[in-house]
Amino acid sequence: MLTTLRRIIQEVNAARNLDQALEIIVKGVREAMGADVCSVYLTDDNLLQHVLMATEGLAPESVGHVRLAFDQGLVSMVANRAEPVNIDDAPNHPRFVYFPETAEEQFFGFLGVPIIHHRKVLGVLVVQQVAARRFDEEQENFLITIAAQLAGAMAHAEASGEIDKLLSQHDGASIRPILGLSGAPGVAIGKAVAIYPETDLEKIPDRNVTDMDAEIDAFNTALTSVKQDITTLSKRLQDVLPAGERALFDAYLLMLDSHSLRGVTAARIMEGMWAPAALRRTVDEQIQAFAEMDDPYMRERGEDLRELARRILHYLLQNAKRDLHYPPRTILVGDEITAAQLAEVPRENLVGVVSASGSRTSHVSILARALGIPAVMGAVDLPVGRIDGQNIIADGYSGNVFVSPGKEVRAEYERLASEEEGLNAELVNLRDQPSVTEDGKSIPLKANTGLLSDITPSLNSGADGIGLYRTEFPFMVRQRFPGEEEQLRIYRQALMAFAPRPVTLRTLDVGGDKALPYFPIIEDNPFLGWRGIRITLDHPELFLVQVRAMLRAASGLDNLEILLPMISHIAELDEALSLIHRAVDELQEEGATITKPHVGVMIEVPSAVYQAEQLARRVEFLSIGTNDLTQYLLAVDRNNSRVASLYDALHPAVLRAVYDTVNAAHRAGKPVSVCGEMAGDPAAVVLLVGMGIDSLSMSASSLNRIKWVIRNLSTDRARQYLDEALNMEDAVSIRNFLNEKLETAGMGGLIRAGR
Ligand code: PEP
Ligand code: MG
Repeated sequence: MLTTLRRIIQEVNAARNLDQALEIIVKGVREAMGADVCSVYLTDDNLLQHVLMATEGLAPESVGHVRLAFDQGLVSMVANRAEPVNIDDAPNHPRFVYFPETAEEQFFGFLGVPIIHHRKVLGVLVVQQVAARRFDEEQENFLITIAAQLAGAMAHAEASGEIDKLLSQHDGASIRPILGLSGAPGVAIGKAVAIYPETDLEKIPDRNVTDMDAEIDAFNTALTSVKQDITTLSKRLQDVLPAGERALFDAYLLMLDSHSLRGVTAARIMEGMWAPAALRRTVDEQIQAFAEMDDPYMRERGEDLRELARRILHYLLQNAKRDLHYPPRTILVGDEITAAQLAEVPRENLVGVVSASGSRTSHVSILARALGIPAVMGAVDLPVGRIDGQNIIADGYSGNVFVSPGKEVRAEYERLASEEEGLNAELVNLRDQPSVTEDGKSIPLKANTGLLSDITPSLNSGADGIGLYRTEFPFMVRQRFPGEEEQLRIYRQALMAFAPRPVTLRTLDVGGDKALPYFPIIEDNPFLGWRGIRITLDHPELFLVQVRAMLRAASGLDNLEILLPMISHIAELDEALSLIHRAVDELQEEGATITKPHVGVMIEVPSAVYQAEQLARRVEFLSIGTNDLTQYLLAVDRNNSRVASLYDALHPAVLRAVYDTVNAAHRAGKPVSVCGEMAGDPAAVVLLVGMGIDSLSMSASSLNRIKWVIRNLSTDRARQYLDEALNMEDAVSIRNFLNEKLETAGMGGLIRAGR
């Protein structure tokens, strides 16, 4: 049964569209279960009906015509109960409904299982038999397993508008959004450009081409290159491998020229498909055929074919890359998008980012925010393989993504986007205004930087300094640790650009999800492992070089602040401070003009919250890293979209921890800021002002938005909202409460699309 199941799933995954996938399912399942009928019903939420979409065994004309209301028939019973129904006498069941066009009265045994994705019923899979008996347990389990697998494919099809198209046979316009998470605010309307890992044939997206001849040429060139490689390899091994073994290379050459690979792929390309996807489909089909063969030798050939396909793909993509272009209004989409891929798109063509994985605090969304580009993260149902070239809308506030949106949706979002532009233009006027509350309390707003080599956006934002410079990025983009002089030049640029405003350079914070290519750290639990200060204290030579570079970079400017990440023990701070003092002394002895910098501790681990006062007494300031603090307090991985709904800095426990830290710093007579993403969240800022936060540091693009909130708030009102929020028991209630306050104050444009 397992082999059959795998085969069906593989075929379904290789299907061209949902229609074909359903055909494969009904045929395969009927055969595997020895049933007389297998059918799939899809749930139409608009018309409140379950619609027969594919059948093997009922009259084919009934497809699309048999429609059961939500309270009608055995199929609805399965959907309503969200569990299997297995009965031996269907026609006499009180819920049975007879449709003459199906000629169904002759089938007595009925087994229906719901197709459920993320707790939602998408349809029902049914098998029937003439015999008046129940399907056995093994058959029931088989059907449940198939339905669970089908759910993922159907969710993708629903998201891409395919289900709407199938159900209503209209123009395929999608009215249902794919749900993701807010990554960076704003509305993006544009064309999807799918990003894929270049080594993984399975992940190659479908893409249409108009110049088929050019595509065939590219395919042939790639084949020739692989053939040359194989011939060279065979020659090289001439002396070491016996002739019999080398015959394998001849077999490869034959495969490359075979009709089943070359001819079939070329035929697909001539239908308008780009070569990599045409190759993927051909190879999937062939591998499937090999897998079904009884001869183990032949089954192995599937692996050879996969290897050949990888080599062809490599050449194809090398060539494709040369003319990969990002159209105007590109929205980058992918299963996983890296900061480097994002940085590759010309800024003027990039309007949005949609990623199937990640969350608000992933580095790619932090980068999107730094660039002022709307981003949706964790859109798990994104049909990446079928989305390239389609029109899409990404709502960076709600996390909704519309693929091939209908006219109404598009018109509405165009209106919202133009309101948004108006709002942004107004907010730019705040650039040179001070960040003060209505009652005159000044709360300096600084910029987070380090992700971009260019600090211009932070400078242009009118920031009161840099509150967090993530120094790990210059380390990440190199092939080795940067030396003291190299680092000095980088830091000097930032310190000079902002002087006399303060610039907070954080010492190296690698580990966790930030790896250096030349310093791999393989751990079972990287976020609880060797990261941040733990690494640099174990490698004082790295720490000292970095601190010396920072100190020398600030020579004559005196606007340097050094920030220490991931402090979880007092002893770590004492050790780091003594190394910093050593560096100052040594440089002074060497004759450099160095002043002792201000040093601060990041509060981003629960233990540091409880010792915040003792920590604060040893340094000049505290800075709360709410990204990690939220992850460690709530035990929710900040990058995992599966648990992203549990990750919210407005969780009452996080708010209390932040509040306690602010109070602890003030008891020690030291200022405290927030430099995590919470500082750029308009709702959260209301509470931070209520807590008495001294300054905030955020993405440059959030600065004016947050300034708007602060200038329209009094400390009294903020304190009152904080009291009310702290009496609430969950993040959702707190967010709703604060959003409502922002709406009534006329600032709803900060938390949703539109003005
Ligand atoms: C934080 O954890 O809140 C923070 C600012 O640091 P990073 O996001 O770089 O971990
Ligand atoms: Mg952190």
